[in-house]
Amino acid sequence: MSDLSTWVSYLAEIGVTDLRVAPAKPRTAGLEAIRADIGECTRCKLCHARTHIVFGVGNPKARLMFVGEGPGADEDRIGEPFVGRAGKLLTSLIEGIGLTRDDVYIANVVKCRPPGNRDPLPFEIASCRPYLEAQLDLIAPRVVVTLGNFATKLLLDTKVGITKLRGQQFPFREQSVIIPALHPSAVLRNGGAALAQARADFVVIRRALAAA
Ligand code: URA
Repeated sequence: MSDLSTWVSYLAEIGVTDLRVAPAKPRTAGLEAIRADIGECTRCKLCHARTHIVFGVGNPKARLMFVGEGPGADEDRIGEPFVGRAGKLLTSLIEGIGLTRDDVYIANVVKCRPPGNRDPLPFEIASCRPYLEAQLDLIAPRVVVTLGNFATKLLLDTKVGITKLRGQQFPFREQSVIIPALHPSAVLRNGGAALAQARADFVVIRRALAAA
């Protein structure tokens, strides 16, 4: 059985008629496929200290997506973004504009906790970036809210800090906008005036969603 037609006849004889090769990736790759690509990731050193990979949570068709910095201790323990004190504040800001966590999608720049909540390093951010980009591709939110400096600098490709950029709208991809907002942890650290600024950021977010 040396040539192809002999093989095809042989396979037909034993009942194999569909000779298409299975695609390497699922045709309708969803968030689960992106998570599966990450696997038990060891692409950067953050893998050594993590408990859980914190992939993201929420509505896969969300019109509004939040991008934070990276998991903290509570998120690392539970495996879900923004579940600690900062997360509770984020949830209340989301509810303040008439939405729930189930309406939106929440992810982070890095998906494993930097030890001691240190800043993520450039190599760690670069290693994780393709997965965040894939989440953005698939969810295709109309409004992306970058929480704090790391997400804002990464997605807007800027060196300008969050205090200058917060509450403004920047075109993003085909039909989306990015709205940088204060990180809830910074709001918790800085108190009253910062909370008023965060609320003002969320008014901008609500208006952008209504217009999108
Ligand atoms: N801070 C973040 O940036 N992300 C989380 O998931 C929790 C706290």
